[in-house]
Amino acid sequence: MTSPALAATIDLDAIAHNVGVVRDAARADVLAVVKADAYGHGVLPVARTALAAGAAELGVAHVDEAVALRAGGISAHITAWLHTPATDFGAAIAHDIDIAVSSSRQLAAVVAAAAARSTTATVTVKVDTGLNRSGIAVDEWADFAESLAKAKADGAVSVRAIMCHLARGDEPDHPLNSEQAHRLDVAADDLRRLGAGPEVMHIANSPAALTRPDLARDLVRPGIALYGRTPVPERGDFGLIPAMTLTAQVSLVKKLSAGEGVSYGHTWIAPTDTTIAILPAGYADGVPRLLSGKFAVRINGRSFPGVGRICMDQMVVDLGPDGGGVAEGDRAELFGTGRDGGPTAKDWADTIGTIDYEIVSGIGRRAIREYVGGARG
Ligand SMILES: *Cc1c(COP(=O)(O)O)cnc(C)c1O
Repeated sequence: MTSPALAATIDLDAIAHNVGVVRDAARADVLAVVKADAYGHGVLPVARTALAAGAAELGVAHVDEAVALRAGGISAHITAWLHTPATDFGAAIAHDIDIAVSSSRQLAAVVAAAAARSTTATVTVKVDTGLNRSGIAVDEWADFAESLAKAKADGAVSVRAIMCHLARGDEPDHPLNSEQAHRLDVAADDLRRLGAGPEVMHIANSPAALTRPDLARDLVRPGIALYGRTPVPERGDFGLIPAMTLTAQVSLVKKLSAGEGVSYGHTWIAPTDTTIAILPAGYADGVPRLLSGKFAVRINGRSFPGVGRICMDQMVVDLGPDGGGVAEGDRAELFGTGRDGGPTAKDWADTIGTIDYEIVSGIGRRAIREYVGGARG
């Protein structure tokens, strides 16, 4: 393996393992959510690995993401659920993408795109059962259901699935979760009565898939759990294995005298004579600048604190007076599995008041994705 300045090493065996964890917990098939370049892990290797590990199908936000999966040779069922008036439904239909529609307007656009190709589009009905984000609004439902039944009768669409997304899935016992599931069951009944019943139903995101098997219908729709990060830490880690380890190669080691300040604004002043190391990772790479002075890295099994401001391309760590035995070219672990006591993406998230979803999906393209284990190619 090469030694890139900055590397995000993705453990595909961990992803395969995590697919099994979710499937067993939910006792349902897995629709693996691989949007946003598989939460920053690299969409094609992750998609192939998840499918090889038994995931039944895939889901993404944009049609373009789905088409990219097809271009990468993925033939599994793919659902795309976030569209704008400019979305190319013709391309979705041509690539056999299941289009999740969130309004009568989107359905009409899909019907027109199917007519233009003299074919039938596959759709999923995305119902807004309480998240108040995407999905068909309550006051639009009756009209939508009739339009859908007509489009189905006309052969313009086939209705593959009905879905909704939970507002409080990470609060497993919140009554809204069951209420949303009930609303979706009612909506599915409405469609069945109109002769446009869905073949499958899915509700659960990662936290619900792991904690509420009663909400799993035919499929569950996990994202973050596949990447090995528990969405409900207070309930444990479920045996999930974090798949991404971020490392940087030490670019420079140098001495610093007591009283010298480090990086922009000299926010950290060396209290004693010391040694610092420069790492080629910064906020342009997705290391939050807000972490400045509030994180540690592991080099050769030892922990060293980050000091001074995180810059666009680089950061500084304090190796201590004896230099910690660190040499230029050694690799520093910025975050990883945490299993050896090292830092995790969750540590970063907790420190700056966000969630690890944002940390891993925000790791930039300069971090070379390297894959270990799993189904590559
Ligand atoms: C992102 C997303 C998911 C996955 O959510 P996780 O919390 O990462 O499991 C599921 N469904 C929809 C509609 C999504 O947008």
